[in-house]
Amino acid sequence: MEKIQMTTPLVEMDGDEMTRILWQMIKDELLLPYIDLKTEYYDLGLEYRNETNDQVTIDSANATKKYGVAVKCATITPNAARMTEYDLKEMWKSPNGTIRAMLDGTVFRAPIVVKGIEPCVKNWEKPITLARHAYGDVYKNTEIKVPGAGKAELVFTGEDGTEIRETIHEFTGAGILQGIHNTEKSISSFARCCFNYALDTKQDLWFATKDTISKKYDHTFKDIMQEIFDAEYKEKFDAAGIEYFYTLIDDAVARVMKAKGGFIWACKNYDGDVMSDMVSSAFGSLAMMTSVLVSPDGNYEYEAAHGTVQRHYYKHLKGEETSTNSVATIFAWTGALRKRGEIDKLPALMKFADDLEAACVETIESGKMTKDLALITSIENPTPLSSEGFIKAIRENLDRKLA
Ligand code: NAP
Ligand code: MG
Repeated sequence: MEKIQMTTPLVEMDGDEMTRILWQMIKDELLLPYIDLKTEYYDLGLEYRNETNDQVTIDSANATKKYGVAVKCATITPNAARMTEYDLKEMWKSPNGTIRAMLDGTVFRAPIVVKGIEPCVKNWEKPITLARHAYGDVYKNTEIKVPGAGKAELVFTGEDGTEIRETIHEFTGAGILQGIHNTEKSISSFARCCFNYALDTKQDLWFATKDTISKKYDHTFKDIMQEIFDAEYKEKFDAAGIEYFYTLIDDAVARVMKAKGGFIWACKNYDGDVMSDMVSSAFGSLAMMTSVLVSPDGNYEYEAAHGTVQRHYYKHLKGEETSTNSVATIFAWTGALRKRGEIDKLPALMKFADDLEAACVETIESGKMTKDLALITSIENPTPLSSEGFIKAIRENLDRKLA
């Protein structure tokens, strides 16, 4: 069989531990035999990040801005234990945080739905994609533990010296205070990322805040979304047959529980943090959750939502057999290849991405799966496979499809 050609390289960001092992297996078994794979390789494994003083992460983000599409393996975010384990010069920042800040992006997370792994919420027939605004609010707060009676004020001093002053509370005893902020720039780019992604995936977009209570803060989110929608996206949405609607956060939560799925739920930072964990665990498994970072100027970085699966890696190092689920990492590759194919007008590459995804789904639906899924599936007598055995089973299905 002739290999599928590519014209522009993907930005390939390699990572750590068990996912780094899966990464190589996926390339060897599922990509290189079929595609004339072009990538610009960046090693975001912790050792090389340390060696380059994290410059490699910055370089990989710049490459993503240049080429437009990246695929990323899970990486270690160092903590005190990793400082010793890897003898680090510094406690390097989370690569995802660095890349997100440089691309100014929004993260979209969607479950991979297969028959046999049923969501806890019975009426969810299609995936629910969560879009989380990842800047500001309580994640960049300033807090005070108020020691006793006194007056708390909110003060803004403009560059020209003009002052805006509001009383927060006249304390008669001890209490607590919190200051939070957001910016029009960040909210606007979040809005554009969400509208573009909805058009891209032809799904309705929901957005919700608590604007009835937060009449300036949350209301500004609602207003900016609506202004940008009306000015730039309404006609495109009409043409695509999809809709945008705003509702109160409590109403959204109630509606999500009764919905069939198949839409994007945009959330403020805190709501997105909490709701994405709820939605992903209700869909079954973190190992079946994809994640894509979309920047307002149209750059894409695909990855799995889970981490480096450290516990499995230590088993692997001891020479024991592992059964680590590679589906979300495979879907990171197919997402990136499909996007590359779409931008470069390579229908064969897009079809390959579809076929590989279908092969993954069919493998699981035929009862062949890794242990994490075998534990929760409704399929009777599933066959639990090793990390490698599962990838080989997918390859068999893929070969049948391509033949
Ligand atoms: P994790 O790697 O997601 O793993 C947590 C647990 O979830 C695993 O121990 C495993 O459970 C299960 N699991 C996750 N993915 C799985 C898969 N593909 N197949 C089978 N089971 C899977 O999270 P963590 O242990 O908290 O973090 C490990 C490292 O990953 C940390 O250094 C962290 O900084 C990093 N991390 C990176 C990213 C990223 O790059 N996007 C995201 C999160 C965490 P059992 O052990 O019970 O089998
Ligand atoms: Mg969380």
